[in-house]
Amino acid sequence: MQGVRKAFGTNVVLDGVDLDVDAHRCVVLIGASGSGKSTLLRTVDLLEDVDDGVILLDGEDITDPRRDADAVRARMGMVFQAFNLFPHMRVLDNVTLASRLVHRVPRREAQERAHAMLERVGLGARADAFPDELSGGQQQRVAIARALVTSPRLMLLDEVTSALDPELVGEVLDLLGELKAEGMTMVVATHEMGFARHVADEVCYLHAGTVHERGTPEQVLGDPQQPRTREFLRRII
Ligand code: ATP
Ligand code: MG
Repeated sequence: MQGVRKAFGTNVVLDGVDLDVDAHRCVVLIGASGSGKSTLLRTVDLLEDVDDGVILLDGEDITDPRRDADAVRARMGMVFQAFNLFPHMRVLDNVTLASRLVHRVPRREAQERAHAMLERVGLGARADAFPDELSGGQQQRVAIARALVTSPRLMLLDEVTSALDPELVGEVLDLLGELKAEGMTMVVATHEMGFARHVADEVCYLHAGTVHERGTPEQVLGDPQQPRTREFLRRII
């Protein structure tokens, strides 16, 4: 992201954001509520237009109005706080939907991939369940499987554990840690400082519409240089 600016009316949420994410890296976004973490992820996923600046994915300007938004989005997997599974569809169908509709994968192949991905997230036995028959942590793992099944270049994860009961947070964070270890490129907005500390390659503190401080978890969480960052961390830890 280079100089990305995004305002809602007079509310300037992103005010010249510069952010690089190298392949296979995990970048964690932290910041106060309303600091623009979700908005930043949504601009990358093209769910919000930017007012200024560019976003490059593998060198291609994905903010260029001439780009094919669906083709760009097909290269990313986004997971939200609310799992957004389709309640009337079985787990397997939730996971196959995107590959069938967006990627035009034939049904059988899509189902094979979906089964493999459900195994991957530890839910191979629940393919025929409906979402409301699963725990919150299991539903979120289905949502992650759904995002992974199309082999995205980049995973965007927005507070994926915030809606979970505390005892279910660990299973989802463990899964993200495994994805990171397998080399997935990830940008993660989270309030889970433990996850940031253990899994992030880089932590970015968002404040006043910019990346106010960035560095390794040790630097930003352990020895923040900016007074604002220190104040934020003091309040949440
Ligand atoms: P949280 O930690 O609570 O999830 P956040 O860092 O994700 O917060 P955003 O959701 O990105 O913050 O919101 C940043 C600002 O943008 C807020 O002031 C919010 O009110 C505003 N905003 C976000 N989406 C919209 C929208 N669709 N229309 C108008 N304002 C919006
Ligand atoms: Mg948010």
